[in-house]
Amino acid sequence: LRRSSVQELLRSQELEREVLVKGWVRTRRGNKYVQFIAVNDGSTIHNLQVVADAEKFPEETLKDVATGACVAVRGQLVASQGKGQTVEIQAIDIEVLGKADPETYPLQKKGHSLEFLREIAHLRPRTNTFGAVLRVRHALAFAIHQYFNDHGFYYVHTPIITGSDAEGAGQMFRVTTLPPEHPPRTADGSVDYKEDFFGKQTNLTVSGQLEGEIAALALGKVYTFGPTFRAENSNTARHLAEFWMIEPEMAFYDLQDNMDLAEDFLKSLVRYALEKCPDDLQFLNDQYDKELLGRLQFVVDNGFQRLTYTEAVEILKGAKQKFEFPVDWGTDLQSEHERYLVEKHFKKPVILTDYPKDIKAFYMKLNDDNRTVRAMDVLFPGIGEIIGGSQREENLEKLQARMAQMNVPEEELWWYLDLRRFGSAPHAGFGLGFERLVLFVTGMANIRDVIPFPRFPKNAEF
Ligand code: ATP
Ligand code: MG
Ligand code: MG
Ligand code: MG
Repeated sequence: LRRSSVQELLRSQELEREVLVKGWVRTRRGNKYVQFIAVNDGSTIHNLQVVADAEKFPEETLKDVATGACVAVRGQLVASQGKGQTVEIQAIDIEVLGKADPETYPLQKKGHSLEFLREIAHLRPRTNTFGAVLRVRHALAFAIHQYFNDHGFYYVHTPIITGSDAEGAGQMFRVTTLPPEHPPRTADGSVDYKEDFFGKQTNLTVSGQLEGEIAALALGKVYTFGPTFRAENSNTARHLAEFWMIEPEMAFYDLQDNMDLAEDFLKSLVRYALEKCPDDLQFLNDQYDKELLGRLQFVVDNGFQRLTYTEAVEILKGAKQKFEFPVDWGTDLQSEHERYLVEKHFKKPVILTDYPKDIKAFYMKLNDDNRTVRAMDVLFPGIGEIIGGSQREENLEKLQARMAQMNVPEEELWWYLDLRRFGSAPHAGFGLGFERLVLFVTGMANIRDVIPFPRFPKNAEF
Protein backbone atom coordinates (compact mmCIF):
# COMPACT_ATOMS: atom_id res chain seq x y z
CA LEU A 1 0.00 0.00 0.00
CA ARG A 2 1.54 3.34 -1.11
CA ARG A 3 1.76 6.11 1.51
CA SER A 4 -0.40 9.15 0.74
CA SER A 5 0.18 12.66 2.06
CA VAL A 6 -2.47 14.33 4.19
CA GLN A 7 -2.79 16.99 1.48
CA GLU A 8 -3.54 14.35 -1.17
CA LEU A 9 -6.12 12.61 0.99
CA LEU A 10 -7.94 15.79 1.99
CA ARG A 11 -8.35 16.64 -1.69
CA SER A 12 -9.25 13.13 -2.75
CA GLN A 13 -12.59 12.42 -4.37
CA GLU A 14 -12.10 8.65 -4.30
CA LEU A 15 -13.61 7.42 -1.07
CA GLU A 16 -14.18 3.97 0.42
CA ARG A 17 -10.65 2.80 -0.31
CA GLU A 18 -7.80 1.69 1.91
CA VAL A 19 -5.05 4.25 2.45
CA LEU A 20 -1.82 4.60 4.40
CA VAL A 21 -0.69 7.86 6.00
CA LYS A 22 2.25 8.69 8.25
CA GLY A 23 2.68 11.78 10.38
CA TRP A 24 2.72 13.34 13.84
CA VAL A 25 -0.16 13.33 16.29
CA ARG A 26 -1.37 16.84 17.08
CA THR A 27 -4.16 15.86 19.46
CA ARG A 28 -6.15 12.87 20.58
CA ARG A 29 -9.55 13.26 22.15
CA GLY A 30 -12.78 11.27 22.39
CA ASN A 31 -14.83 9.13 24.72
CA LYS A 32 -15.06 5.51 25.69
CA TYR A 33 -16.64 4.53 22.36
CA VAL A 34 -14.43 6.36 19.90
CA GLN A 35 -11.17 8.29 19.73
CA PHE A 36 -10.33 11.06 17.26
CA ILE A 37 -6.66 11.48 16.38
CA ALA A 38 -5.55 14.59 14.46
CA VAL A 39 -2.53 13.74 12.29
CA ASN A 40 -0.33 16.24 10.46
CA ASP A 41 2.50 15.33 8.11
CA GLY A 42 3.69 18.79 7.07
CA SER A 43 2.16 18.64 3.59
CA THR A 44 -0.56 21.12 4.58
CA ILE A 45 -1.72 23.25 7.48
CA HIS A 46 -4.74 20.96 7.89
CA ASN A 47 -4.83 17.81 9.99
CA LEU A 48 -6.36 14.54 8.92
CA GLN A 49 -8.83 13.09 11.38
CA VAL A 50 -8.29 9.44 12.22
CA VAL A 51 -11.23 7.70 13.85
CA ALA A 52 -10.43 4.75 16.13
CA ASP A 53 -13.41 2.75 17.44
CA ALA A 54 -13.01 1.45 20.98
CA GLU A 55 -14.16 -2.01 19.91
CA LYS A 56 -11.15 -2.39 17.68
CA PHE A 57 -8.80 -0.10 19.68
CA PRO A 58 -9.25 -0.53 23.44
CA GLU A 59 -7.76 2.36 25.43
CA GLU A 60 -4.52 0.54 26.34
CA THR A 61 -3.66 -0.01 22.63
CA LEU A 62 -3.70 3.77 22.12
CA LYS A 63 -1.68 4.81 25.16
CA ASP A 64 1.38 5.75 23.04
CA VAL A 65 -0.73 7.56 20.45
CA ALA A 66 -0.14 10.85 22.26
CA THR A 67 0.49 14.43 21.17
CA GLY A 68 3.85 14.59 19.40
CA ALA A 69 4.14 10.87 18.63
CA CYS A 70 4.87 9.73 15.09
CA VAL A 71 2.38 7.23 13.72
CA ALA A 72 1.59 5.19 10.64
CA VAL A 73 -2.14 4.71 10.09
CA ARG A 74 -3.79 2.28 7.71
CA GLY A 75 -7.49 2.63 7.23
CA GLN A 76 -10.54 3.32 5.12
CA LEU A 77 -10.88 6.80 3.62
CA VAL A 78 -14.50 7.83 4.24
CA ALA A 79 -16.71 10.91 4.15
CA SER A 80 -16.61 12.79 7.44
CA GLN A 81 -19.63 13.87 9.46
CA GLY A 82 -17.52 16.23 11.57
CA LYS A 83 -17.27 19.89 10.74
CA GLY A 84 -14.11 21.39 9.24
CA GLN A 85 -13.27 18.42 7.04
CA THR A 86 -14.85 16.42 4.25
CA VAL A 87 -12.94 13.17 4.69
CA GLU A 88 -11.44 11.15 7.53
CA ILE A 89 -9.81 7.77 8.05
CA GLN A 90 -11.56 4.90 9.78
CA ALA A 91 -8.53 3.23 11.32
CA ILE A 92 -7.76 -0.45 10.68
CA ASP A 93 -4.25 -0.43 12.04
CA ILE A 94 -2.19 2.18 13.97
CA GLU A 95 1.54 1.73 14.43
CA VAL A 96 3.55 4.04 16.67
CA LEU A 97 6.84 4.76 14.89
CA GLY A 98 8.19 7.15 17.52
CA LYS A 99 6.79 7.79 20.98
CA ALA A 100 6.62 11.22 22.65
CA ASP A 101 6.44 11.21 26.44
CA PRO A 102 3.45 13.37 27.47
CA GLU A 103 5.32 14.38 30.64
CA THR A 104 8.26 15.93 28.81
CA TYR A 105 7.18 16.77 25.23
CA PRO A 106 7.44 20.59 25.13
CA LEU A 107 4.63 21.18 22.60
CA GLN A 108 2.05 19.46 24.72
CA LYS A 109 -0.49 22.26 24.88
CA LYS A 110 -1.51 24.67 22.16
CA GLY A 111 -0.70 28.35 21.94
CA HIS A 112 2.93 28.75 22.96
CA SER A 113 4.48 32.20 22.64
CA LEU A 114 6.76 32.86 19.69
CA GLU A 115 9.54 33.76 22.16
CA PHE A 116 9.25 30.35 23.80
CA LEU A 117 9.22 28.59 20.44
CA ARG A 118 12.48 30.35 19.48
CA GLU A 119 14.14 28.53 22.37
CA ILE A 120 13.06 25.18 20.96
CA ALA A 121 13.97 25.84 17.33
CA HIS A 122 14.39 22.08 16.83
CA LEU A 123 10.71 21.42 17.55
CA ARG A 124 8.95 24.56 16.34
CA PRO A 125 8.61 23.33 12.71
CA ARG A 126 5.99 20.96 14.16
CA THR A 127 3.70 23.84 15.07
CA ASN A 128 1.01 25.15 12.72
CA THR A 129 2.64 28.56 12.61
CA PHE A 130 6.09 27.38 11.58
CA GLY A 131 4.74 24.78 9.21
CA ALA A 132 2.90 27.60 7.44
CA VAL A 133 5.89 29.96 7.50
CA LEU A 134 8.27 27.31 6.17
CA ARG A 135 5.93 26.30 3.35
CA VAL A 136 5.48 29.95 2.33
CA ARG A 137 9.25 30.46 2.54
CA HIS A 138 9.77 27.48 0.25
CA ALA A 139 7.17 28.72 -2.24
CA LEU A 140 8.83 32.15 -2.40
CA ALA A 141 12.29 30.65 -2.94
CA PHE A 142 10.91 28.52 -5.74
CA ALA A 143 9.08 31.49 -7.29
CA ILE A 144 12.29 33.53 -7.28
CA HIS A 145 14.16 30.95 -9.34
CA GLN A 146 11.17 30.53 -11.62
CA TYR A 147 10.80 34.28 -12.20
CA PHE A 148 14.43 34.72 -13.16
CA ASN A 149 14.49 31.62 -15.31
CA ASP A 150 11.40 32.86 -17.18
CA HIS A 151 13.01 36.26 -17.72
CA GLY A 152 16.35 35.11 -19.15
CA PHE A 153 18.54 35.41 -16.04
CA TYR A 154 21.33 32.99 -15.15
CA TYR A 155 21.82 31.81 -11.57
CA VAL A 156 25.45 32.35 -10.54
CA HIS A 157 27.06 31.25 -7.31
CA THR A 158 29.20 33.90 -5.69
CA PRO A 159 31.67 32.99 -2.93
CA ILE A 160 30.84 32.85 0.76
CA ILE A 161 34.47 33.27 1.78
CA THR A 162 35.76 36.49 0.32
CA GLY A 163 39.14 38.20 0.21
CA SER A 164 37.82 41.73 0.08
CA ASP A 165 36.13 43.72 2.80
CA ALA A 166 35.56 46.79 0.67
CA GLU A 167 31.87 46.40 -0.12
CA GLY A 168 31.06 48.38 2.97
CA ALA A 169 27.55 46.94 3.37
CA GLY A 170 28.13 45.96 6.97
CA GLN A 171 30.46 44.67 9.66
CA MET A 172 32.05 41.38 8.62
CA PHE A 173 32.82 38.08 10.33
CA ARG A 174 36.42 36.91 10.00
CA VAL A 175 37.22 33.36 8.82
CA THR A 176 39.66 31.56 11.10
CA THR A 177 41.44 28.22 10.77
CA LEU A 178 41.36 25.77 13.62
CA PRO A 179 44.60 23.75 13.67
CA PRO A 180 44.34 19.94 14.00
CA GLU A 181 44.65 19.86 17.77
CA HIS A 182 41.11 21.04 18.27
CA PRO A 183 40.89 23.56 19.83
CA PRO A 184 44.44 24.58 20.65
CA ARG A 185 45.08 26.27 23.99
CA THR A 186 47.62 28.88 24.92
CA ALA A 187 49.52 28.71 28.20
CA ASP A 188 46.77 30.58 30.06
CA GLY A 189 44.16 28.15 28.75
CA SER A 190 42.43 30.42 26.21
CA VAL A 191 41.71 29.17 22.69
CA ASP A 192 44.47 29.93 20.17
CA TYR A 193 42.98 30.55 16.73
CA LYS A 194 45.12 31.03 13.65
CA GLU A 195 43.35 34.00 12.19
CA ASP A 196 43.77 33.31 8.51
CA PHE A 197 42.70 31.33 5.46
CA PHE A 198 45.93 29.53 4.47
CA GLY A 199 47.89 32.68 5.12
CA LYS A 200 45.39 35.19 3.75
CA GLN A 201 42.89 37.18 5.75
CA THR A 202 39.34 36.42 4.64
CA ASN A 203 35.78 37.25 5.71
CA LEU A 204 32.28 35.92 5.26
CA THR A 205 30.51 37.72 2.45
CA VAL A 206 28.12 40.60 3.22
CA SER A 207 26.83 40.69 -0.37
CA GLY A 208 27.49 38.94 -3.67
CA GLN A 209 27.06 42.11 -5.67
CA LEU A 210 30.61 42.88 -6.76
CA GLU A 211 31.12 39.32 -7.96
CA GLY A 212 27.64 39.45 -9.52
CA GLU A 213 28.80 42.40 -11.62
CA ILE A 214 31.60 40.21 -13.01
CA ALA A 215 29.02 37.70 -14.19
CA ALA A 216 26.58 40.33 -15.52
CA LEU A 217 29.30 41.87 -17.68
CA ALA A 218 29.70 38.52 -19.39
CA LEU A 219 26.30 36.81 -19.28
CA GLY A 220 24.00 39.85 -19.45
CA LYS A 221 21.42 39.12 -16.78
CA VAL A 222 22.34 37.14 -13.67
CA TYR A 223 21.29 36.69 -10.07
CA THR A 224 22.68 35.27 -6.89
CA PHE A 225 20.57 33.78 -4.11
CA GLY A 226 22.56 32.71 -1.11
CA PRO A 227 23.44 33.32 2.51
CA THR A 228 25.13 36.55 3.55
CA PHE A 229 26.55 37.50 6.91
CA ARG A 230 26.70 40.73 8.83
CA ALA A 231 28.06 41.18 12.31
CA GLU A 232 25.06 43.31 13.21
CA ASN A 233 25.14 43.59 16.95
CA SER A 234 21.66 44.95 16.72
CA ASN A 235 18.63 43.45 18.32
CA THR A 236 16.01 44.73 15.92
CA ALA A 237 13.11 42.71 14.53
CA ARG A 238 14.49 43.35 11.00
CA HIS A 239 18.14 42.27 11.21
CA LEU A 240 19.83 38.88 11.39
CA ALA A 241 23.54 38.06 11.50
CA GLU A 242 22.96 35.43 8.78
CA PHE A 243 20.34 36.11 6.14
CA TRP A 244 19.65 35.15 2.54
CA MET A 245 19.85 37.70 -0.19
CA ILE A 246 18.65 37.75 -3.79
CA GLU A 247 20.83 39.93 -5.97
CA PRO A 248 20.03 40.36 -9.66
CA GLU A 249 22.56 42.28 -11.75
CA MET A 250 21.83 43.36 -15.32
CA ALA A 251 24.05 44.71 -18.09
CA PHE A 252 22.48 47.54 -20.14
CA TYR A 253 19.94 48.42 -17.41
CA ASP A 254 19.63 51.96 -16.05
CA LEU A 255 17.96 53.03 -12.81
CA GLN A 256 14.53 53.18 -14.47
CA ASP A 257 14.85 49.61 -15.76
CA ASN A 258 16.07 48.55 -12.33
CA MET A 259 12.99 50.02 -10.62
CA ASP A 260 10.65 48.45 -13.17
CA LEU A 261 12.24 45.06 -12.57
CA ALA A 262 12.13 45.39 -8.77
CA GLU A 263 8.44 46.31 -8.80
CA ASP A 264 7.41 43.59 -11.24
CA PHE A 265 9.53 41.02 -9.38
CA LEU A 266 8.06 41.79 -5.95
CA LYS A 267 4.50 41.77 -7.28
CA SER A 268 5.04 38.44 -9.03
CA LEU A 269 6.39 36.88 -5.85
CA VAL A 270 3.49 38.07 -3.72
CA ARG A 271 1.01 36.95 -6.39
CA TYR A 272 2.64 33.52 -6.50
CA ALA A 273 2.35 33.12 -2.73
CA LEU A 274 -1.33 34.14 -2.82
CA GLU A 275 -1.96 31.55 -5.52
CA LYS A 276 0.08 28.67 -4.13
CA CYS A 277 -0.31 29.07 -0.36
CA PRO A 278 -3.92 30.14 0.18
CA ASP A 279 -4.50 27.92 3.23
CA ASP A 280 -1.27 28.83 4.98
CA LEU A 281 -1.80 32.55 4.37
CA GLN A 282 -5.42 32.32 5.51
CA PHE A 283 -4.22 30.68 8.71
CA LEU A 284 -1.60 33.38 9.32
CA ASN A 285 -4.15 36.05 8.50
CA ASP A 286 -6.64 34.67 11.03
CA GLN A 287 -4.06 33.93 13.68
CA TYR A 288 -1.73 36.91 13.65
CA ASP A 289 -2.68 39.71 11.31
CA LYS A 290 -6.22 40.24 10.12
CA GLU A 291 -5.10 42.65 7.41
CA LEU A 292 -2.50 40.35 5.88
CA LEU A 293 -4.42 39.07 2.85
CA GLY A 294 -5.80 42.51 2.06
CA ARG A 295 -2.33 44.03 2.23
CA LEU A 296 -0.83 41.37 -0.04
CA GLN A 297 -3.55 41.82 -2.64
CA PHE A 298 -3.11 45.59 -2.46
CA VAL A 299 0.59 45.33 -3.28
CA VAL A 300 -0.16 43.12 -6.27
CA ASP A 301 -2.84 45.46 -7.61
CA ASN A 302 -1.29 48.92 -7.15
CA GLY A 303 1.70 50.81 -8.52
CA PHE A 304 4.55 51.74 -6.19
CA GLN A 305 5.07 55.44 -5.47
CA ARG A 306 8.37 56.68 -6.90
CA LEU A 307 10.09 59.82 -5.67
CA THR A 308 13.55 61.14 -4.90
CA TYR A 309 15.22 61.18 -1.52
CA THR A 310 15.19 65.00 -1.68
CA GLU A 311 11.42 65.06 -2.19
CA ALA A 312 10.98 62.57 0.66
CA VAL A 313 13.00 64.75 3.03
CA GLU A 314 10.70 67.69 2.23
CA ILE A 315 7.64 65.57 3.04
CA LEU A 316 9.16 64.31 6.29
CA LYS A 317 10.14 67.83 7.38
CA GLY A 318 6.55 68.95 6.84
CA ALA A 319 5.08 65.95 8.68
CA LYS A 320 3.05 66.56 11.83
CA GLN A 321 4.36 63.35 13.38
CA LYS A 322 7.24 63.74 15.87
CA PHE A 323 10.18 61.50 14.95
CA GLU A 324 12.73 60.16 17.36
CA PHE A 325 15.52 61.04 14.91
CA PRO A 326 15.51 64.39 13.12
CA VAL A 327 15.42 64.43 9.32
CA ASP A 328 17.99 66.50 7.49
CA TRP A 329 19.16 66.37 3.89
CA GLY A 330 22.33 64.28 3.91
CA THR A 331 21.47 61.86 6.71
CA ASP A 332 20.20 58.34 6.11
CA LEU A 333 16.52 57.74 6.75
CA GLN A 334 15.60 55.66 9.78
CA SER A 335 12.96 52.99 9.59
CA GLU A 336 10.47 55.29 11.40
CA HIS A 337 10.84 57.74 8.47
CA GLU A 338 10.55 55.02 5.85
CA ARG A 339 7.45 53.61 7.49
CA TYR A 340 5.86 57.05 7.80
CA LEU A 341 6.21 57.57 4.04
CA VAL A 342 4.76 54.15 3.25
CA GLU A 343 2.12 53.70 5.93
CA LYS A 344 0.96 57.23 6.67
CA HIS A 345 1.77 59.47 3.73
CA PHE A 346 1.46 57.46 0.50
CA LYS A 347 -0.24 54.38 1.92
CA LYS A 348 1.51 52.16 -0.62
CA PRO A 349 5.00 50.80 -1.34
CA VAL A 350 7.53 53.49 -2.14
CA ILE A 351 10.69 53.56 -4.23
CA LEU A 352 13.09 56.31 -3.15
CA THR A 353 15.87 57.29 -5.54
CA ASP A 354 18.85 59.60 -5.86
CA TYR A 355 20.27 59.55 -2.35
CA PRO A 356 23.13 61.82 -1.24
CA LYS A 357 26.40 60.25 -2.38
CA ASP A 358 27.97 60.44 1.08
CA ILE A 359 25.53 57.98 2.66
CA LYS A 360 25.72 55.40 -0.15
CA ALA A 361 28.36 52.95 -1.36
CA PHE A 362 31.26 53.94 -3.65
CA TYR A 363 30.04 51.92 -6.65
CA MET A 364 26.79 53.80 -7.23
CA LYS A 365 26.66 55.97 -10.35
CA LEU A 366 27.09 59.67 -9.69
CA ASN A 367 24.36 62.01 -10.96
CA ASP A 368 25.22 65.16 -12.92
CA ASP A 369 24.48 67.27 -9.83
CA ASN A 370 27.61 65.74 -8.26
CA ARG A 371 25.77 65.42 -4.92
CA THR A 372 23.48 62.43 -5.42
CA VAL A 373 23.83 58.90 -6.77
CA ARG A 374 21.50 56.68 -8.76
CA ALA A 375 20.45 54.65 -5.77
CA MET A 376 17.04 53.18 -5.07
CA ASP A 377 15.50 51.74 -1.92
CA VAL A 378 12.16 49.96 -2.04
CA LEU A 379 10.15 50.50 1.13
CA PHE A 380 7.30 48.23 2.20
CA PRO A 381 4.51 48.59 4.77
CA GLY A 382 5.39 47.09 8.12
CA ILE A 383 8.95 46.46 6.95
CA GLY A 384 10.69 49.64 5.79
CA GLU A 385 13.59 48.87 3.45
CA ILE A 386 13.08 45.57 1.62
CA ILE A 387 15.36 46.26 -1.37
CA GLY A 388 18.48 48.37 -1.80
CA GLY A 389 19.93 48.86 -5.28
CA SER A 390 21.47 51.21 -7.80
CA GLN A 391 22.80 51.84 -11.24
CA ARG A 392 26.54 51.17 -10.96
CA GLU A 393 29.33 53.55 -11.95
CA GLU A 394 30.67 52.18 -15.23
CA ASN A 395 33.25 54.91 -15.90
CA LEU A 396 36.77 54.02 -14.70
CA GLU A 397 37.97 57.52 -13.80
CA LYS A 398 34.77 58.46 -11.99
CA LEU A 399 34.84 55.19 -10.04
CA GLN A 400 38.48 55.73 -9.05
CA ALA A 401 37.69 59.26 -7.88
CA ARG A 402 34.80 57.97 -5.73
CA MET A 403 36.99 55.24 -4.24
CA ALA A 404 39.68 57.75 -3.36
CA GLN A 405 37.11 60.03 -1.70
CA MET A 406 35.71 57.16 0.34
CA ASN A 407 39.06 55.56 1.23
CA VAL A 408 38.39 52.33 -0.62
CA PRO A 409 41.79 50.81 -1.52
CA GLU A 410 42.28 50.23 -5.26
CA GLU A 411 44.74 47.34 -4.70
CA GLU A 412 42.01 45.19 -3.21
CA LEU A 413 39.56 45.83 -6.03
CA TRP A 414 41.93 45.72 -9.02
CA TRP A 415 39.66 43.10 -10.61
CA TYR A 416 36.59 45.29 -10.09
CA LEU A 417 38.36 48.18 -11.83
CA ASP A 418 39.37 45.86 -14.68
CA LEU A 419 35.67 45.45 -15.47
CA ARG A 420 35.67 49.19 -16.30
CA ARG A 421 39.01 49.00 -18.14
CA PHE A 422 37.95 46.29 -20.54
CA GLY A 423 34.58 46.46 -22.26
CA SER A 424 32.68 48.36 -19.58
CA ALA A 425 28.92 48.70 -19.94
CA PRO A 426 26.12 50.50 -18.10
CA HIS A 427 24.60 48.11 -15.58
CA ALA A 428 22.40 48.03 -12.52
CA GLY A 429 21.15 45.67 -9.85
CA PHE A 430 19.66 45.33 -6.40
CA GLY A 431 19.58 43.22 -3.25
CA LEU A 432 16.37 41.85 -1.81
CA GLY A 433 16.58 40.54 1.75
CA PHE A 434 14.82 37.17 1.56
CA GLU A 435 13.72 37.13 5.21
CA ARG A 436 12.26 40.64 4.88
CA LEU A 437 10.21 39.35 1.97
CA VAL A 438 9.06 36.30 3.96
CA LEU A 439 8.28 38.62 6.88
CA PHE A 440 6.09 40.76 4.66
CA VAL A 441 4.27 37.85 3.01
CA THR A 442 3.61 35.91 6.22
CA GLY A 443 2.72 38.96 8.31
CA MET A 444 4.98 37.78 11.12
CA ALA A 445 6.35 40.53 13.35
CA ASN A 446 9.91 39.36 14.00
CA ILE A 447 12.52 38.29 11.43
CA ARG A 448 13.70 35.57 13.83
CA ASP A 449 10.43 33.77 13.20
CA VAL A 450 10.74 33.42 9.43
CA ILE A 451 14.05 31.52 9.18
CA PRO A 452 14.43 27.97 10.56
CA PHE A 453 17.67 28.65 12.46
CA PRO A 454 17.96 32.35 13.25
CA ARG A 455 21.41 33.77 13.95
CA PHE A 456 21.50 36.83 16.16
CA PRO A 457 23.71 37.95 19.06
CA LYS A 458 24.17 35.08 21.53
CA ASN A 459 22.01 32.75 19.46
CA ALA A 460 23.84 29.99 17.60
CA GLU A 461 23.00 26.86 19.60
CA PHE A 462 23.01 24.57 16.58
P1 ATP B 1 19.11 48.33 6.70
O1 ATP B 1 19.12 49.79 6.35
O2 ATP B 1 17.75 47.79 6.98
O3 ATP B 1 20.13 47.96 7.76
P2 ATP B 1 20.93 47.94 4.57
O4 ATP B 1 20.73 49.21 3.81
O5 ATP B 1 22.08 47.85 5.50
O6 ATP B 1 19.58 47.56 5.37
P3 ATP B 1 21.66 46.59 2.12
O7 ATP B 1 23.13 46.56 2.27
O8 ATP B 1 21.07 47.60 1.21
O9 ATP B 1 20.99 46.68 3.57
O10 ATP B 1 21.19 45.11 1.75
C1 ATP B 1 20.13 44.80 0.83
C2 ATP B 1 18.92 44.21 1.52
O11 ATP B 1 19.27 43.15 2.40
C3 ATP B 1 18.18 45.19 2.43
O12 ATP B 1 17.32 46.01 1.67
C4 ATP B 1 17.42 44.26 3.34
O13 ATP B 1 16.26 43.75 2.70
C5 ATP B 1 18.38 43.10 3.51
N1 ATP B 1 19.16 43.17 4.76
C6 ATP B 1 20.20 43.98 5.04
N2 ATP B 1 20.72 43.73 6.25
C7 ATP B 1 19.99 42.70 6.76
C8 ATP B 1 20.05 41.95 7.98
N3 ATP B 1 20.98 42.20 8.90
N4 ATP B 1 19.15 40.97 8.17
C9 ATP B 1 18.23 40.69 7.23
N5 ATP B 1 18.12 41.34 6.06
C10 ATP B 1 18.99 42.34 5.81
MG1 MG C 1 22.18 47.89 7.53
MG1 MG D 1 19.49 50.88 4.51
MG1 MG E 1 20.30 49.45 1.75
